[in-house]
Amino acid sequence: MKKETIATHYGYNQKNDIGAMAVPIYLTTAFDFGTSERAADRFCLKDLGPIYSRLTNPTVDVLESRLAKLEGGSAALAVSSGQAATFTAIINLAGAGDNIIVAEKVYGGTATLTMHSLKRFGIEARLFDSENPQNLRDLIDEKTKCIFFETISNPQISIANIDEIVKIAKEFNIVTIADNTVATPILYNPLKDGVDVVVHSASKYISGQGLSIAGAVVASKELNQKLKANPRYEHFNTPDESYHGLVYADLVDSFDIFILRAKFGILRDFGMTLSPFNAFQLIQGLETLSIRVKKHSKNAKKVAKFLQNHPKVKRVIYPALKEQNGYDIVKSKFKDGMASGLLAFELEDFESAKKVSNKVEIFSVVVNIGDTKSIITHPASTTHSQLSKEELENSGISQGLIRLSIGLENAKDLIKDLEQALEEI
Ligand SMILES: *Cc1c(COP(=O)(O)O)cnc(C)c1O
Repeated sequence: MKKETIATHYGYNQKNDIGAMAVPIYLTTAFDFGTSERAADRFCLKDLGPIYSRLTNPTVDVLESRLAKLEGGSAALAVSSGQAATFTAIINLAGAGDNIIVAEKVYGGTATLTMHSLKRFGIEARLFDSENPQNLRDLIDEKTKCIFFETISNPQISIANIDEIVKIAKEFNIVTIADNTVATPILYNPLKDGVDVVVHSASKYISGQGLSIAGAVVASKELNQKLKANPRYEHFNTPDESYHGLVYADLVDSFDIFILRAKFGILRDFGMTLSPFNAFQLIQGLETLSIRVKKHSKNAKKVAKFLQNHPKVKRVIYPALKEQNGYDIVKSKFKDGMASGLLAFELEDFESAKKVSNKVEIFSVVVNIGDTKSIITHPASTTHSQLSKEELENSGISQGLIRLSIGLENAKDLIKDLEQALEEI
């Protein structure tokens, strides 16, 4: 099945229901087991029917199976936010005393989660350059539990050298986690290139219209074998006291053990559950994801070309354009060389950037991406205003940098809007 068909049909057959064409919203907390025997079977995973909506829900199930299939994975877990997805994927591998290796250029929330909050739980984050990952080997030791990076980073729009990262991770038998939020499963499938786990902020392109906060974790078909008998991941290979001494690695023939543990261990205890109502909205989003992402990318390319030729613009960052960093990777791996709706450009200084973001009319001043409506952000005066000049430079964000999330409006109108705003400086 091709992606457009998966996104509109997979995991739900209305003929088995009462015929409802839209996936029904099962807005219920609990499920009637009928008998105590069936209840017992569900708890010991003999019967995979729903138990309680913190763990399993039929509407959420449809979303999970569609996402897993779209990413070419074995199973998926939907959670309440992209942050929850990153957190779940990491703590499913690492605990106190362990370390994780994280790309320098990542989403702000991922940086604070890994460098500050997880540190308080005894997990150390070590940083690497995902464009030039050669020094990764020096950072790895026997306590290293995962390597985390973004395929297209937000907000820097840096393209990871995925093949090199995967190659090094394989040498050490370490799990790789790729945040594929910006690329979406339409442009790129990291699992097909040997990545082990994909995480998404589904709040962005998957939701698509800026309606829901949600996240997802998808595991590869090969991950079971990587975890089984791997001394790095003892907790998958020894009895889990919290689940009647269950050994996850014993179940590799019947379950995706990474997602099983994420659901029946982490979701059970931490409770970052996705609401069935939001799952329903994301299912609607998935149905149009492919046409939207293509249009976002086409529009962004037109805007990027306009900006490239504008005398007041110092630099444009859009990796679908020739001679840009990451262009070769985008061209060879991403669908038709497309690079999403995310682009950035640099003006002379802080004041000019601020002026332009105040002058645009169609673009909204919002900290979000992936909406149908175009968005403008000036990181130095907003999202990153707490950082010193030096910290800003280290994170790849200059005073005059503007980030755009190009929406689904007509590109000519967007260009006109930027043109009149640029006249102000
Ligand atoms: C937004 C975002 C997140 C966090 O997602 P939320 O759904 O807002 O929690 C993580 N990674 C990337 C790349 C993002 O853009």
